[in-house]
Formats: sequence, C-alpha cells, structure tokens
Amino acid sequence: MQIAVINSGSSSLKCKLFNMQTKEVLYSVLIENIGEIGAEFKNHHDALESIDIDFCSLDVIGHRVVHGGEFFSEATLIDNNVIARIKELIPLAPLHNFSNLEGIIIARTKAPNIPHIAVFDTAFHTNMPKEAYLYALNKDMYEKHHIRRYGFHGTSHSYVSKKAAKILKKDINRLNLITLHLGNGASICAIKNGKSIDTSMGFTPLEGLVMGTRCGDIDPSIALYMQRELGMNVDEVDKELNKNSGLQGICNENDVRKILNNSNESSELALKIMIRRIQKYIGSYMVLLETVDAVVFAGGIGENSQYIREKIFDNALIKKLDSIVIETNEELEIATQCMNVHSIVISSS
Ligand code: ADP
Repeated sequence: MQIAVINSGSSSLKCKLFNMQTKEVLYSVLIENIGEIGAEFKNHHDALESIDIDFCSLDVIGHRVVHGGEFFSEATLIDNNVIARIKELIPLAPLHNFSNLEGIIIARTKAPNIPHIAVFDTAFHTNMPKEAYLYALNKDMYEKHHIRRYGFHGTSHSYVSKKAAKILKKDINRLNLITLHLGNGASICAIKNGKSIDTSMGFTPLEGLVMGTRCGDIDPSIALYMQRELGMNVDEVDKELNKNSGLQGICNENDVRKILNNSNESSELALKIMIRRIQKYIGSYMVLLETVDAVVFAGGIGENSQYIREKIFDNALIKKLDSIVIETNEELEIATQCMNVHSIVISSS
C-alpha cells in the first residue's frame, strides 16, 4: 500500500510517499517560498505539478489540516461536505486552513478517483474534559462563537505517546504521560490513560509555552494596551505576538541551536524564560495527572538538545520523573491514520 502525505502550508509544500508495508519513505520533497518574488513556483498548483509521483496510482493521499474545530475528532475521508467544513473553519486558523484546503483541492483535481483523507492537528485533543477546554469567558463566547481551547500538534503528541507505550512496554490505555513537542512551535500535553486531558496551545497555537517567535501565555490585556495606548492596529498586534515575540523578541534569535552558541545575557535570559514556562506546565500537569509514567521529549529542541532537557529536569520535583526522547514523525502518523480509515472504508463498502 502506498500513501502520499501532503502538508500544504502558506508558502510551502511538503510531500512524503510511504510504502506502508515497510514504513519506508519512497519519496520526500519540501518546496519553500512558494509565491515569493524570484521563487521557483508562483503557486501551490505549480509546486504540486512538479512533484514526481503518479498520484493516480496511489492507494490514498493524506492531507494535514491544522484546524478541525469541533467537527473532526478523527481522520476523515474527504468529500464536498468535509471541504465545506474545513472552509468554515478558516476564520479560526486563517493562514493554515486556507493553505491546507488549497492543497486538498489541487490534489483532488489531480487524482480524483482515489480516496483523500484529512488528518487534523486538533483531533487528538477533542475529547479533553470541558473544564480543560473552556475558558472562563461568558458562555456565549463558546456557545455562539466557538471560542474554546482546541489544542494543536495533536498528530505529534499522539504519535509519541503510542511510541512511548511500546518502549515502556505498557498498555497505552493505562499510561499517563507528559509529552513535550519542542520545535519552533511548541506545546505540551497531559495524557491520561492514553488520552489528551489538557494541552498548552489553546484557541490558536499562540497560547502556552514560549516559542521561537510566539509569546505563549501573556495577560490578554497587553493586546488591548498595544492597541489603545501604543496605537497599533489588529494586524500589527497579531504580528507582534506571533512573529516578534518569544525567543526572537527577547534575544533577537529564534533558533535554539544558535541561541545556545551565543553566550550573552539576552540569550541566557531567553532560554531561562522558556525553560521556566515549561517547568510551570510540567508541574501543573503533574498535579492534574497525579501519577506520571514518563515525560516524553520530541521536536527539534526536545530530541536534540540534552542541555535544554537537563535544564528542564534541574528541579527537585521534576527530576523524580522518568523521561524518554522520541523522534516524532507526524507524516508517518498521518499515513498510519489514513491507512486505518482506508481499511474501514474498504471493509464497509
Ligand atoms: P518546526 O516547528 O519548524 O518543525 P523543529 O521541530 O525542526 O521545528 O525544531 C526547530 C528547533 O529545534 C530550532 O530552534 C532548532 O534550533 C532546534 N534544534 C535543532 N537541533 C538542535 C540541537 N542539536 N540543539 C539545540 N536545538 C536544536
């Protein structure tokens, strides 16, 4: 069985082709800077056309979709209704869902006779308890406007939790984990008996940990102050919090590898702020879970930086926990979820 996974971002297109029997990657491509001045491809259509895969001969094409809202709690076979729902969710994730949808539409035109399946970043978190996903806002904000915590990076948290169960030789349904996906974007998840019960990203991927360029948790009044007192408009505030903050905001650099090499005061401070936030979340998830089988490190920083892992564990409470490093593989998880949906579709048809 051959499955291609397409991750169509705002200016990039990633595609991986898997042989699902062997889990071997048969083809992999990353096209960046789509549509930018002087770039090789002026749009996603041309980028997809350049990919050297006979899409019509595949068994399934899997698509990463960032926001599934409350509609999608699992990987879903794409039809026109699913497309309409993903479109409806664009206001919740304007950059992401729009580009994800563009990839789906182009790929369906290219390969109309094979199943296309959407795998959502939010799906793993859809069964969080209400007390975890509701903000303490007026209930109309949730009931009429769908403002709640959705959580993201679900594909990664799900993949590493299942992998951890295998490594620890435990039943996933009896496993409590704190999983950390620490990349440019970063989130942490409290997993009880294999299910997400809380996570640091919220209504959007801006909430929670200190990230490469995103601030994570702040007093929401700061956004109001920026507008009222600093005269910034909504787009400027959006850019400030998403692109000019986090590690970048504190030390002018968002790449942790480079920050570790810059031994100056602001670099050290940026890492201290990032680590302290991670420790606060681990502490609060220890309380929620009561027993923790392991802390799982994943993502570029989590997988590669022993220094950051040691700093996080340099705490009398946290150091009592076991930890493992697991290389995340979101594309393989998407392909695996697609395979499961595909076999259900085949067996019921
Ligand atoms: P993305 O969220 O873009 O997928 P990644 O998961 O690839 O990001 O993580 C990127 C981050 O991982 C960068 O901050 C990078 O510096 C960091 N990183 C990668 N390798 C190392 C390393 N050996 N030591 C420290 N940080 C690393």
